[in-house]
Amino acid sequence: MASIFTKIVQGDIPCYKIAESEKYFAFLDINPLQKGHTLVIPKREVDYIYDLEEEELAGLHVFAQRVAKAIEQAIPCNRIGVAVIGLEVPHAHIHLIPIQSMQDMNFTNPKLLLESSEMDLIAQSIRSNMAK
Ligand code: AMP
Repeated sequence: MASIFTKIVQGDIPCYKIAESEKYFAFLDINPLQKGHTLVIPKREVDYIYDLEEEELAGLHVFAQRVAKAIEQAIPCNRIGVAVIGLEVPHAHIHLIPIQSMQDMNFTNPKLLLESSEMDLIAQSIRSNMAK
């Protein structure tokens, strides 16, 4: 069965989309640790990130760099924290999280509950900062 992220890529499940290329896709995490918390995935469904082909893994990180630069512009922060967990959704993904301090990317912290209108605005703001 297709992963929930494949369904997002195919448009069968809605998301707050940030960016898309031929092979990669980025969208807001639905249960964000911080405003602007974004997931970057390969469109090809592979569970474990280190099972990706070398070239695909490299491409995923380069795509994530473009997205991170746009998040930095949209959300005031010290850094974009990068994490790979992958215990919940079996489709490789990189978490990009705008942080002020290390505590901001503690995955055991309570998640933010944001209105969909705010998620829309955040996504729009990050999208508008994506380099063409
Ligand atoms: P993990 O697999 O442990 O890296 O966690 C998966 C992440 O995907 C969690 O942070 C979830 O909040 C996020 N997530 C799960 N379903 C969705 C969805 N439909 N849209 C956006 N993010 C999701």
